[in-house]
Amino acid sequence: MIKNNIDKIKLELPEHVTLVAVSKTKPIEDLQEAYNGGQRIFGENKIQEMVTKYDALPKDIQWHMIGHLQRNKVKYMAHFVDLIHGVDSFKTLTEINKQAKKHNRVINCLLQAHIAEESTKFGLSFNEIETIIASEEINKLENIKVVGLMGMATFTKDKEQLQKEFSSLNTLFINIKNKYSDINILSMGMSGDYKLAIKCGSTMVRIGSSIFGNRNYLAS
Ligand SMILES: *Cc1c(COP(=O)(O)O)cnc(C)c1O
Repeated sequence: MIKNNIDKIKLELPEHVTLVAVSKTKPIEDLQEAYNGGQRIFGENKIQEMVTKYDALPKDIQWHMIGHLQRNKVKYMAHFVDLIHGVDSFKTLTEINKQAKKHNRVINCLLQAHIAEESTKFGLSFNEIETIIASEEINKLENIKVVGLMGMATFTKDKEQLQKEFSSLNTLFINIKNKYSDINILSMGMSGDYKLAIKCGSTMVRIGSSIFGNRNYLAS
């Protein structure tokens, strides 16, 4: 079932779009099944849960942290995390840099933009993103590399609204990408909206329930 879902989604994805299988709340067996089906990139939103799964599963998996970051927990994943999507402050970049340095690594990061209407969603304003990327200070952080942007759209079925949010982030992405060669990932799109996100320029989709089925938060 899981393998079939992944195969079906992969057929629809253009070659330049990367699939992150969002496995939060799902048991190890489900991730193993996806792995056996060829999936190598997994996304989790809780650091502790990701560490447990990292320890249990094959080491050629690339782990993406897609959730809101608690700075004091960055140290637990610094030795293996492949890409951190949800960076929403310079302070967090500084902490990731500090922890990456201890392991002699460079950790790739995406800056999270606030594009949704909901104020509960995290993220930086477009201005803040441009300021961080253009700053002198960021060049001093030798153990992190900002490689792109991430956004979560409003939870709505309103296609026009979604398109507006995705397109605005894509415009910012293109502008920045043209100026900075390191920037080449635009992470946007989930189970409900990834097709539209791809039309609006996404290069990385984060898909959970369409692969693993609905999440049961009460049971976890
Ligand atoms: C849970 C989650 C997803 C996946 O959501 P689905 O609707 O299950 O595909 C994608 N991105 C983030 C940041 C998430 O927290």
